[in-house]
Amino acid sequence: MSFASLGLSAPILKSIAEQGYETPSPIQAKAIPAVIDGKDVMAAAQTGTGKTAGFTLPILERLMRGPRVQPNQVRALVLTPTRELAAQVGNSVAIYGKHLPLSSTVVFGGVKINPQMIKLRRGTDVLVATPGRLLDLYNQNAVKFNQLEVLVLDEADRMLDMGFIRDIRKILAVLPAKRQNLLFSATFSDDIRQLAKGLVHNPVEISATPPNSTAPKVEQWVCPVDQKQKPALLIKLINENNWQQALVFTRTKHGANRLTRHLEAAGIKAAAIHGNKSQGARTKALADFKSCDIRILVATDIAARGLDINQLPQVVNFDLPNVPEDYIHRIGRTGRAGASGQAVSLVSVDEFKQLSDIERLIKQVLPRKSVNGFNPTNNLPESRLNTRPLKPNKPKRPKAANAFGNTPRNNTGNTSRNTTGNNSGNRQNEARPGRSKPRPFKVANRSA
Ligand code: AMP
Repeated sequence: MSFASLGLSAPILKSIAEQGYETPSPIQAKAIPAVIDGKDVMAAAQTGTGKTAGFTLPILERLMRGPRVQPNQVRALVLTPTRELAAQVGNSVAIYGKHLPLSSTVVFGGVKINPQMIKLRRGTDVLVATPGRLLDLYNQNAVKFNQLEVLVLDEADRMLDMGFIRDIRKILAVLPAKRQNLLFSATFSDDIRQLAKGLVHNPVEISATPPNSTAPKVEQWVCPVDQKQKPALLIKLINENNWQQALVFTRTKHGANRLTRHLEAAGIKAAAIHGNKSQGARTKALADFKSCDIRILVATDIAARGLDINQLPQVVNFDLPNVPEDYIHRIGRTGRAGASGQAVSLVSVDEFKQLSDIERLIKQVLPRKSVNGFNPTNNLPESRLNTRPLKPNKPKRPKAANAFGNTPRNNTGNTSRNTTGNNSGNRQNEARPGRSKPRPFKVANRSA
């Protein structure tokens, strides 16, 4: 199948060719014609499936046919949970729309609002925004929605996890009722379905892959270890296996900082990426990691979400996530686009419950390998697979691997996207704890 057969026009096909894309990914093959047709779409898709082009390309196609945008107006609105994702999506819009007479703008919190207000004055065809800042801009009359044709909620599950539901509802309330709605989410929990009910109408439902499956080419194993031995074990694993690029997940921001210090002290170049880091520091850490100037990127779940890092050979769970679905998100970072990867979890006895929940979710007991000298004094109990589902209607999620029918040229780690130049700021990721009450199970001990 070709992009041309999906109904895209020459200037868009030119941008696609310039990116080196040859074949549409499954999600693109389904979403592009549906969106061009004006249908609502509900898609199970995470980063790495080509979802951004899946909604951006057909939106641009539709917008190029419509009227000119008026001052302060917006024709297509893309809402994202984080600044990073907003910047990445904005970058994609700019790349794919390069040969079109359409404008795009990215707005997010943590940076001055005035320059954003000035940019919006002339109107913008595509606005990519995080919810909090968008509401601020709307309340100051900097943005108007009379001309709005399309709304995209990207990573809707993460927006709910981060407590944005109230902001989203406020935004929905001020949009014209007649519009096209596209909802993208890695998982489809009850909450997302509830949100979708009032949002999408007769949607085309797209799911690229079976629910809750991990990428098949990822070798996963568990390394039992005492909590206090974890930094030393990680250093040993990095050195002995000569890992050149690994993404390491910790549960907390402080844990990420502490571990980064341990690694640096052992002569391993590392940087932490989390919500307490300034936008500039995060962008730099990501760029340094992509260019291999640092070997280890230590991240919290929320900060890592939406990062466009392709084909990582190694993912390490320094701490197991409290939310079992996050395990799948994490290991989806490796073994992408047909490449193989390894995901190792350092598990101490106090994490046995999390381990059991993960194994229950992925329906397999993870193999264990002990490392000499690191056998735990507090033994990790044997796993017994619990085959009862965790909850009825567990979230469905696609796998990230093999999304494309071809080997993308830019899947080398030097991705076409970058967040550089998208301002800097030092406010937390857009989440505003306390603005709405997130579900207790989902957010327990979560920290960006
Ligand atoms: P996304 O899932 O939107 O985050 O995209 C993941 C990566 O795949 C990005 O680096 C895109 O540039 C790339 N990509 C998107 N569509 C294609 C395609 N059809 N062929 C090759 N690469 C693609």
